[in-house]
Amino acid sequence: MAVYIGSKAKPARLTQPGDNFEVVIIGGGPAGLTAGLYAARAGLSTLLLEKTFTGGQAATANHVENYPGFDNGVGGPELAMAMERQAAKAGLVVRASGVSRMELKGDVKRITLEGGMVITAKAVILAMGARPRKTGVRGEAEFSGRGVSWCATCDGFAMKGKNAAVIGGGNTAAEDALYLSGICEHVTIVHRRAELRADRSLVRRLLENPKISILWDHVVKAFEGEEKLRAIEVENVTNHERTRLPVGGVFIAIGEDPDTSLAKDEVKMNREGYVLADEDTRTNLAGVYAAGDLREKPLRQIVTAAADGAVAATAAMQDLRFKAPEHDNEAARGVSVHSVNA
Ligand code: NAP
Repeated sequence: MAVYIGSKAKPARLTQPGDNFEVVIIGGGPAGLTAGLYAARAGLSTLLLEKTFTGGQAATANHVENYPGFDNGVGGPELAMAMERQAAKAGLVVRASGVSRMELKGDVKRITLEGGMVITAKAVILAMGARPRKTGVRGEAEFSGRGVSWCATCDGFAMKGKNAAVIGGGNTAAEDALYLSGICEHVTIVHRRAELRADRSLVRRLLENPKISILWDHVVKAFEGEEKLRAIEVENVTNHERTRLPVGGVFIAIGEDPDTSLAKDEVKMNREGYVLADEDTRTNLAGVYAAGDLREKPLRQIVTAAADGAVAATAAMQDLRFKAPEHDNEAARGVSVHSVNA
């Protein structure tokens, strides 16, 4: 189990079951890392748990052009690593571990790690983000990792010189297609409508790129091949005609679902599983905050995730340092803990 320790961390704290932190952050994307930076700088004993790699979905973006401060854009992995280094310098402890259970009600929050160790915290910042959505069609699971991927930056190189397809019409699909056009022979975007959801600047670049074509009004119906993916079957949504598109790789970019199932019995969420929290990131439970893509909000970007992280850590710090212990606010979203207890 990898453990990364920031300059001011106390390593002994990590190895003991029953450890108690002031703040535990679950999820190491931009929201979690920024929360960690702010919490550590505020002098709170803080642990960040990340089950895979830090940086979240931002770390899989080839090139990020709309994060402020980088006039030529910045690579997703590069940005993620810089965020982690900065937080570690401030004293954040990052532990590579999944969480199998959360008990978030009451003053003492219990977090059970995969493997069974239990740690406790006074405050928990939920920053688990979202997972890429699946198509659910025939062959998707079978060819996953054998031609079907959800990460162009991770798996695009294996498609060198081949024809590839990207499913979806949002920013992720557009960025994936542009990235793959530098590697693949040709890239076909398969989109279910006749208009892309992606930002205009990206759309313009897609349309100008001779190595990218767009198959409008089509959905994927099957992934086919033998050992590896060889083709996809697509269907015209208007006349239901089906066509076979030979491709060596397919990159699925049809959105994401919040990774919130572990908290669903205690924390209020909307129908899609996004956590309901106010602008101050406080949830229905005292001492529990929601930051980043898992929160119901109008704009999910790296910059808004980072902003949430900063707000969540600051709210946690205020609640821990300046307020008496509180009861959970089961009432609902829209009522801040402040006003309930005022
Ligand atoms: P998204 O914006 O939700 O777009 C998903 C796309 O997939 C949409 O075009 C949607 O079609 C299509 N789709 C959804 N379900 C489908 C299905 N079952 N079959 C076929 N097509 C389906 O997702 P995203 O592109 O992953 O972006 C997620 C969030 O991250 C967004 O807020 C986005 O702005 C942000 N993001 C930002 C950047 C950036 O700014 N640099 C980069 C990547 C992502 P419809 O259009 O018809 O709904």
